[in-house]
Order: sequence, then C-alpha cells, then structure tokens
Amino acid sequence: MPFYLNVSVAPFDAGLLLLPPLDSPVKGRLYTSNMQKTSSDCCAVSETAKPVAQVNRCPVCGQKGKSVKIITLKSLLKPAALATLKPELSYYFCSNKDCGVTYFAEGMNYETEDLKVAVFQKEPTVDVPACYCFNWTRARIADTVASGESHYITDSITRHIKAGRCGCEVNNPQGSCCLGNVRAAIDAVKRDEVKT
Ligand SMILES: [Zn+2]
Repeated sequence: MPFYLNVSVAPFDAGLLLLPPLDSPVKGRLYTSNMQKTSSDCCAVSETAKPVAQVNRCPVCGQKGKSVKIITLKSLLKPAALATLKPELSYYFCSNKDCGVTYFAEGMNYETEDLKVAVFQKEPTVDVPACYCFNWTRARIADTVASGESHYITDSITRHIKAGRCGCEVNNPQGSCCLGNVRAAIDAVKRDEVKT
C-alpha cells in the first residue's frame, strides 16, 4: 500500500516509469487513465472519475448541470451570496450561455451576478478568461492565434498542469479543467467569431 500511495502522488515522468508494477488491476487502470490525461487532481477528476449521480437539471433552463465541489462556490461567490450557502447540499454548474443561473442545488440557485468573476460560458466578451489560472482571456488567445503561436496556448497550460500549478477548482467557475474551453476559444478565434 505505501508503494501505491507513493505512485499516486509521483510527478508525471516518474509516474510513467512506475506504471507496470502496480498490483491492483482496478487501481492500475484508474491510475493509467489519469496519467494519460494530466497529473493534476483538479484537472483529472472530472474527465476520468465521473460518478453516475453527478447529473441534475437546472431549475430554470432544464439543462443538465455538472457537479461542482463546495470549495468552488466558497472561492467564487461574492460575500453576500456566500452568506446564504448551505454546504450540506450538492451543487451543480449550469453551462447554458442563455441561462442566468450559474450554480444550483435542491431548492436554491446562484445567478451569474453572484460570482466574483465573469463566467466564460455565459459572458461572450473578450476580456473573459477561458483559462482562469493563467489568465488566457479570449483577447489574449486571439492575439496569440493571430501571431501564429496558437499551439503555445495549450502547450503552456498543459505544462503548468503537469507541474501541479493548476487551480481550476478554486479559480474556474466550472470547477474543473479549462482545456476544453480553451480549445473551444481557439476554434472560435479561427472561425473569426472573436472580435478584439
Ligand atoms: Zn440553467
């Protein structure tokens, strides 16, 4: 067991070297799956270990919400909204761009205005980040794509993730890895949908 625990927190490169000797097939499989994605907890959990019960419907728009940890709300709600938080409830993120709700739980919800930051999925403006941890706004992404360096954006973020610097669960309103949003923002720029 101590050996496995060591492996689970090993740096990315060291982890790869230690893949074959894992004794538990189940743990080995999960571990391998995580390593293929990222080595950061906040960016790996949502893509690799999604429990079935994490889907719920937004009470306003009806779209499926994505489960978020309570630490994400504690980090990003404005003080007045945080003062009404019921930490015992399960919270979900509504990503529908046309819906004013950002978080909902049974019997309550928080609007986009209740957050300290603009929500990428809800705000189309160029100053909104796709990557909150390293401040890749739509404008910065557009500038970088225009200079022919679009590969640098995801390369740079991925390097930070592998180095354990990613803090999506406390910085990003969706509470999980930003790379999907970053790729979507890059594609939007390439389709000429972002005006700076
Ligand atoms: Zn909604």
